[in-house]
Amino acid sequence: MTDTFADLQLHPSLVTATKELGYVRPTTIQADAIPPALAGRDLLACAATGSGKTAAFMLPILHRLMERPRGKTRALIIAPTRELAAQILEDMKDLGKHTAVTGAAIFGGVGMGPQETALRRGVDIIVACPGRLLDHLQSGNYSDFSALEVLVLDEADRMLDMGFLPDIRRVLRHIPKVRQTLFFSATMPGPIATLARELLNNPAMIALERQSRPATGITQALYPVPQELKSALLATLLERDHMQDALVFTRTKHRANRLAEYLAKRGISADRIHGNRSQQQRTAALANFKDGKTRVLVATDIAARGIDVEELGHVVNFDVPLVPADYIHRIGRTGRAEAVGDAFTFVAKDEEGDIGAIEKVLGKRIPRITLPDFDYHAKPEARLEIPIAERIAAIRAKKSEDRARSQAKGARKPSGSSSARPQGGGGAPRGVVGAGQGGQRSGGGGGRPGGGRSGYRGGGGGGQGGASGGRPQGR
Ligand code: AMP
Repeated sequence: MTDTFADLQLHPSLVTATKELGYVRPTTIQADAIPPALAGRDLLACAATGSGKTAAFMLPILHRLMERPRGKTRALIIAPTRELAAQILEDMKDLGKHTAVTGAAIFGGVGMGPQETALRRGVDIIVACPGRLLDHLQSGNYSDFSALEVLVLDEADRMLDMGFLPDIRRVLRHIPKVRQTLFFSATMPGPIATLARELLNNPAMIALERQSRPATGITQALYPVPQELKSALLATLLERDHMQDALVFTRTKHRANRLAEYLAKRGISADRIHGNRSQQQRTAALANFKDGKTRVLVATDIAARGIDVEELGHVVNFDVPLVPADYIHRIGRTGRAEAVGDAFTFVAKDEEGDIGAIEKVLGKRIPRITLPDFDYHAKPEARLEIPIAERIAAIRAKKSEDRARSQAKGARKPSGSSSARPQGGGGAPRGVVGAGQGGQRSGGGGGRPGGGRSGYRGGGGGGQGGASGGRPQGR
C-alpha cells in the first residue's frame, strides 16, 4: 500500500506542494495511476470527479516536464467544460507552484488574443476545451504541438454527451501520434471504449469499482426514528458516549445550522460547514473538529466534499442520502485503511423508500437498531425546520387576518380613505423561502478532553468549481 506521495517517487518539490495543499496521502486513483504514468505508460482510468483524478494525471505530467524544460507545449489536457478546464489549470498551478512549469487554459466565452499568445509562447501545459482549441488550430499557424509528449482526455464520457467527439478527432490530427495518452472517464459507453482502443497503447487499466463498495471495517446501522426526534436521538447517543465524535450529514444548510445550535444548547460542542459559510469559517470549523475542540461537525454534502476524514469513528447520516452512491461515499469517510468505524443513518418513515434503494445497491440489509430507554414517543423540544408549505400557510393566514382587520377598519372610516385599500392578490408571499435561516454561530459546549484527532485533512472546501456544471461549451 502506498502511504505517502514521497513513496510514489515524485519529485520532492511536488511532494512539498501536496503537503501544503493538505493532502495527507494519495487517494486510490493516485496510488494506482501515478506509478504507471511516471513510467510513461498509457492509462485507461475509470474515475469520477472527487476521486482525486486531476492530481493523478497532473503530478506525473509535472514530474516529467520539470525534469527537461523545453519551450514548446509538451502536454495537452482536453476537458469538456470551461469550469473544469479552469479548475484543472488551478490545480496545475497549486501542484506545480515550486516548479517553473507554465500553463494556460483555452476555452470559449473569452477573447482569443491572450490564448493565442500562450499558444505562440509554447507554454508547457495547455488545458483546453475541444471547440475553442480547434478554432485556434484552424485560424492560424501559431499553435505548435509538434513537441507534445502527453495527451490527457478528461471526462471523456461527458465530452461524448456534449457532442465533442468529432472535434476531438479533428484535434488529434494536429498532435504527434507517438505520445503518452492518459484517458479518464467515469463510464465507458461504446463510442468511448472505441476511442480509447484507438488512442491507447497497452494501457494500464485502472478501474475503481472497489470504491463503489464501502470499506470493510465499517459497521452500518439504521436508527428508525420520527423526523422530529432525530436531534434528540443524536444528542442522546453523544451524551451516552455511544460515540465520542461524529461527522454528521444533513440534507440542507438550514438543518445543519439548527442542528448545531440544538447540540450546543444541550452542551455538546458542535460546528457546521456548508455553502453559506465563508472559507475562513469552514477552515476554522474543520480545524476545531480535527483538534478535538468540537465533538460534532455538521455538514452538507457539498461542503464536505473537500474533506477527507481519516481515523474517524462515526459518520451519521442525519437524513438519508437520496442517492445510494452518496451513501457509500459518505460512509467511506469512516473505516479507512481497515480501521473500524460506525456509520449510523437516521431513518424517518418517509425515508424508508430511499433506504430500500441503498440496501439494493449494497446487496444486503442494514441492521435496524432501537436505542434502549430513548423515548420514541416524546414530544419534540423544537422542530428543526418548519416545512415550507406550513410556513407559507401560516404567512397566508396572517395576511388574510391583517387584510380582514384593515378592511374592518376601512369600513369604520369615512369613505374615500386610502387606507381601506385591500392588500395584494393573496398569492404566495415573497421572501418566504429561507425565512428564519438562522446564520447564528454555534459552538461552545464542553470541549472534549484529550488529544486531537490525527489524520484529518482538507480545507473544508466547497465543491470543485465547474466539475459538474454541465454548461455546454461555447467556442
Ligand atoms: P478531483 O477528483 O481531481 O476533482 O479532486 C477532488 C478534490 O480532492 C479536490 O478538491 C482536490 O484538491 C482533492 N484532492 C486530490 N487529491 C487529494 C489527496 N491525495 N488528499 C486529499 N485531497 C485530495
